[in-house]
Amino acid sequence: MNTERVSLGMPAAAPGAPGTVGGPADGAAPRPGAASRPGAPGSGLVDQFGRVATDMRLSLTDKCNLRCSYCMPAEGLAWLAKAKLLTAAEIVRLVGLGVDRLGVRELRLTGGEPLVRADLVEIIAALRRNHPSLPISLTTNGVGLAGKAQALADAGLSRLNVSMDTLHHDAFLQLTRRPFLDQVLAGIEAADAAGLRPIKVNAVLLRGVNEGHAAELLGWCLERGYELRFIEQMPLDADHGWTRDGMITAAEIRELLAASFELVPDPRARDGAPAERFEVRRHGSPTLLGTVGIIASVTEPFCADCRRTRITAEGKVMSCLFSRTEVDLLALLRAGSSPADDDAVAERWQDAMWAKPRAHGMGHPGLGDADFVQPDRSMSAIGG
Ligand code: SAM
Ligand code: SF4
Repeated sequence: MNTERVSLGMPAAAPGAPGTVGGPADGAAPRPGAASRPGAPGSGLVDQFGRVATDMRLSLTDKCNLRCSYCMPAEGLAWLAKAKLLTAAEIVRLVGLGVDRLGVRELRLTGGEPLVRADLVEIIAALRRNHPSLPISLTTNGVGLAGKAQALADAGLSRLNVSMDTLHHDAFLQLTRRPFLDQVLAGIEAADAAGLRPIKVNAVLLRGVNEGHAAELLGWCLERGYELRFIEQMPLDADHGWTRDGMITAAEIRELLAASFELVPDPRARDGAPAERFEVRRHGSPTLLGTVGIIASVTEPFCADCRRTRITAEGKVMSCLFSRTEVDLLALLRAGSSPADDDAVAERWQDAMWAKPRAHGMGHPGLGDADFVQPDRSMSAIGG
């Protein structure tokens, strides 16, 4: 286990702060048996702080064809052997358990890069057959999307997020270490043509690389009806190069955009969404151009409203992106296949979520983050 400490310069924990319990923030909660867990069985993915996870993030692979510097090292990572990945049938079974028994209401497929998984279309088609009204979205880097967008739509994908941090070829190459910007642009266009709307574009800003492109990217998205979401850079890079001082904060992002646009907080309820949305207008104009989202996971965390449960490509539950505790469901899945086994898998998943930490430890008043420890896994190996 990596013990590198990332100093975030935050105050120490305030005993008795609202919502706190004694003990460390991660994985140390008492684990009552199913019978004593509030509302169990059939209570869904509830945690000890009363949050209920209804948004499932499932990673289909740890592999990727880009090498974004905030996520992967230049040389890539040692990929998991195929036998260690959840199979299509296991994915369908886990999603079925989540939706039919545990209250999952929406599914996002991610990775690594989910488009590199050869059976992606079949997986989506099987999920859609079993869950006709489940919102199923996909987060992709867009490489190769142009040739697959229509098949994904036909299989039943609801919509997608495409990650694109800049419209400049040189900055794209610097950020992703691959010259594939034109492929990503063609992928977005194809997804739009295939009706995979609303298209959301995810962007991470790195100081000295693309922060000057933020307003331009927003203008480009607004013109096309895409919703841009800036994600604060999180300490989830494999190189462990993230620093608190180096990252571009949500406040800075708002400032960068304010030079070109007027941002007004979106009056619609946030409703557990990670992004804080703003209405966007040109200064002095009443015309609403669209919205922009800012996901301030580091500086304005939203852990109290978190509704996410994550499963890695090798079938491990992570109750939080920053969790250093993982609970293996694959071993149980492979131990048998009867309905009784489903009970065991569901219960282990519930136990994993019950122990979800109150907060990730960065930027929370009342929780000290001087002890925040970066997880071993990079974002690509968790599933963002
Ligand atoms: N490969 C796909 C992609 O890039 O969209 C899906 C997986 S990727 C891990 C999911 C999202 O996480 C992307 O939007 C990416 O920009 C974001 N991401 C990766 N590393 C990050 C980091 N250290 N901080 C913030 N966001 C990050
Ligand atoms: Fe790959 Fe997505 Fe990570 Fe970039 S952010 S390296 S595209 S997994």
